[in-house]
Amino acid sequence: MIPITRYIQNRYIAFCLGCIIVIGILQVSFSKLVELVHSFSPLLFPTLTIFLLVFHLFIACFMSMKYWCDRRRIYLVALAFAFDGSMLLMLGTLSSFPAWLDLYQFNVINYNDAMIFFMFRHIMMAVLMIIAALLYTIRDYPLSRLAHIAIFIGLFIFTASMVSFAWLYSSHSDRLMIDLVDNETRQFMVLWSHVINIILIIIWVVALATLMIITRLRNLFWVGGNFLCVCYIVTLAMLMMGGYAEDIAWYRSRLFETAATLLIIFVLLYDVFNLYRESHLKYQQSYQNSIRDPLTRLYNRSYFYDTLTQTLGSVKPSRPVSVIVSDLDRFKRINDTYGHLQGDKVLQFVANLLVDSVRPQDIAARIGGEEFVLMLNNTSSEAALQVAERIRLHLSSFDKSSSNGQLPEPITISMGVFTATSAQTTAEECVESADKAMYEAKETGRNRVVVFK
Ligand code: GH3
Ligand code: MG
Ligand code: MG
Repeated sequence: MIPITRYIQNRYIAFCLGCIIVIGILQVSFSKLVELVHSFSPLLFPTLTIFLLVFHLFIACFMSMKYWCDRRRIYLVALAFAFDGSMLLMLGTLSSFPAWLDLYQFNVINYNDAMIFFMFRHIMMAVLMIIAALLYTIRDYPLSRLAHIAIFIGLFIFTASMVSFAWLYSSHSDRLMIDLVDNETRQFMVLWSHVINIILIIIWVVALATLMIITRLRNLFWVGGNFLCVCYIVTLAMLMMGGYAEDIAWYRSRLFETAATLLIIFVLLYDVFNLYRESHLKYQQSYQNSIRDPLTRLYNRSYFYDTLTQTLGSVKPSRPVSVIVSDLDRFKRINDTYGHLQGDKVLQFVANLLVDSVRPQDIAARIGGEEFVLMLNNTSSEAALQVAERIRLHLSSFDKSSSNGQLPEPITISMGVFTATSAQTTAEECVESADKAMYEAKETGRNRVVVFK
């Protein structure tokens, strides 16, 4: 086992302080609320239960989807079952407070049933939390399909039996009986106050300790899980202090549970936001990689042809498109004399110079080893010639020192210009014509610009 480092120790301390502060704030807010509202509406408890039920269903769906996306996270299945089972048992709690639905059942409250559902809900959730923490330890081991199915069936049987037992022990069935609250006097029975309440606290303390030791609060998700355990312990401790089922502690318990559940929901939403941000960033990176040349970061050949084809669609005599094909002069000699690495630096230098010499809406691409191409939108042949001349002169003005060593010696470029004025011209024809002009520049002495005629 990894020793607890100072960093983890600080995390534990921060968590404990955070719990004290949050629970303190909730407690003070609740006390203020109790001062303002002397007696709560009997509909408040079932209403809060409905809220919690929906939240738990939401969390269960979320956990299942997360597991669906990443099958290594089998521990999420245990958590999904915990929240799913909790949701079902809260339905049982709602059946003990029929007033939320039926006006004429206003005074019919089965406190004992509510307590039975509460008890089974806590046993089930605490055990499933412990199982989730244990499964978390094997997240890096690849499990077979059979192991996944076995875990799934095991969790299902456990959850289903907890829900079934709660139902069987409640007044909905007369097969099994248990008295936790006297429905007449609303007093907690000894079984609850001296046995079950204490056992539940112990189970949650074990769950909290297991989660703390295994997860080491390594991320917000587990902070949320640990905080839920703390809230349940505090809730049960408060219930232990009150002797009545109608005690204000019930409302406090709902408040704490809702706060912890909301924290988990926010953590899950934050997780989704983070995933979205990361995947969007990765998509952007891979998209840029797919359209750019890795050495110079200029656009690649296919992107250039696609964009040129698209632009040619709207070309007309008053809105021409110019293409400039450029080829470095005697570049092979640079490679042979100074090595390929230096040759690459020259290519990068020329690429940067090309990008800096055109407008942001123009396209600069590398279509071959030391062949570059520019697409100048809405640019006449004369204007394109001027741009090409400016680039040629600018490049030839650099030497080793003015280029910060990127050019081992002055270098020149030959360029061919072609201007399309009709939408009928294809991208291939454009590049071919500019290429021909560039070859003419090579043949007539290099370091020059030729316009295709
Ligand atoms: P010319 O004036 O006729 O164009 O002469 P040149 O030497 O430039 O002729 P050529 O087009 O035959 O040479 C191109 C050279 O470019 C050959 C190849 O070694 C080099 N080259 C192609 N791609 C790269 C690259 O990615 N990095 C480096 N360093 N060199 C490359
Ligand atoms: Mg060349
Ligand atoms: Mg070449």
